[in-house]
Amino acid sequence: MPNKTYNPYQSMLTVLEQAAKMLELHPNDYEAIKYPERELKVYIPVRMDNGSIQVFEGYRVQHSSDRGPCKGGIRYHQSVDMDEVKALAAWMSLKCAVVNIPYGGAKGGINVNPSTLSCGELERLTRRYTAMILPIIGPDKDIPAPDVNTNAQVMGWIMDTYSMINGYTIPGVVTGKPLEVGGSYGRPEATGRGVSFITQKALETFGFPEGPVNIAIQGMGNVGGIAAKLLQEQGHKIVAVSDISGGYYKAEGLNIPAMLKHIRSSKNRSLAGYAELGSTKLDGMDVLTCDCDVLIPCALENQITTENAGSIRAKLIVEGANGPTAADADSILEEKGIVVVPDILANAGGVIVSYFEWAQNIQRLMWEEAEINEMLRNIILRAFDEVFAIASEKRTTMRMGAYISALGRLSKAKKIRGVFP
Ligand code: NAD
Repeated sequence: MPNKTYNPYQSMLTVLEQAAKMLELHPNDYEAIKYPERELKVYIPVRMDNGSIQVFEGYRVQHSSDRGPCKGGIRYHQSVDMDEVKALAAWMSLKCAVVNIPYGGAKGGINVNPSTLSCGELERLTRRYTAMILPIIGPDKDIPAPDVNTNAQVMGWIMDTYSMINGYTIPGVVTGKPLEVGGSYGRPEATGRGVSFITQKALETFGFPEGPVNIAIQGMGNVGGIAAKLLQEQGHKIVAVSDISGGYYKAEGLNIPAMLKHIRSSKNRSLAGYAELGSTKLDGMDVLTCDCDVLIPCALENQITTENAGSIRAKLIVEGANGPTAADADSILEEKGIVVVPDILANAGGVIVSYFEWAQNIQRLMWEEAEINEMLRNIILRAFDEVFAIASEKRTTMRMGAYISALGRLSKAKKIRGVFP
């Protein structure tokens, strides 16, 4: 099981510091980047269905606005705390920089297990949280999006609350909205699609034999589910998947459309109760160490640790989730010769298409899906090439290459703007 003393913010700083040293960043420049610009903690009172009032803790952290408005998702989970949100906000600044879109980084979250709330309670929680972070968000300031356990409907409530308080409709305040209220074609699939582009590119770049490979995926939500579907459509075999309820393995490849159908129709949107002929059940974290060529973690942080990194059999890891590998596990993977395509590059498809959604909203435009998918492919694969070139030149990992690319852009923007006053 993941180490309970793990601190995502410290883990992020460990990697950031290594990259800053490799980039020979001046200590002043590193000092300015390592802290978030702003942290907001709110106590959100919600009237529950039984008439009682329950107070939830919520957060919004803005790490950097140096390269543009802050951008980052909102997570509803019982493990959310300030350090997790701070780490996620910094990763957003790095992610937007590595793919070179004009955004800074932010993240928000509420400490709640949303599966315990009714739909009405979830809506009231979302609307009150929006009202409480309202002074610091907006299309020119900070634009939230979906993350773990939030979806297009939650974004619709945020957009409506923000618009009602301001007195007119402002779709550009959030991305990942339903199409009917200013969402973008391609946004629901964007992160998984980006993961599938990056996986294919990494297979070609790192000399895997042409043809289908065996893939294991942890997490079957927005990111993992779509990545599984698209990679299977490309001809690969998805031999193992897991979600919060457990996992399945089948050497001949699992039936991903049937799994996704089961998840969509189940009460908790999970794999619980799924049955497939020829598949065997996997316990907890076994999906990470099963027999496969490619491992794609798409659940939460701190899944690949010093405890299980030595047992991983995949030769390529593509990080669909944010922070799935603890900083101290990276060297074990490197020693074993496992290539890791890091989160800030591999899962950037979501923020790239969020950028397209926001650009359409503020210009009152609508673009075609084919055009959006093509622009996504160009941006994410160009970033892959840049990171690969840096990693090759400096004889380092793809993670260091991505951090060096991002830190270089961030620190240049900071230098140009200077320190106010
Ligand atoms: P989601 O809520 O749609 O899905 C999360 C999935 O992880 C679910 O299938 C859940 O059952 C599973 N899960 C949770 N705990 C697990 C555990 N202990 N073991 C196995 N499975 C577990 O969330 P999502 O939007 O798909 O996000 C997943 C990850 O991707 C997060 O790290 C998120 O920050 C990152 N991410 C999401 C987006 C996006 O656009 N949604 C973009 C970039 C990065």
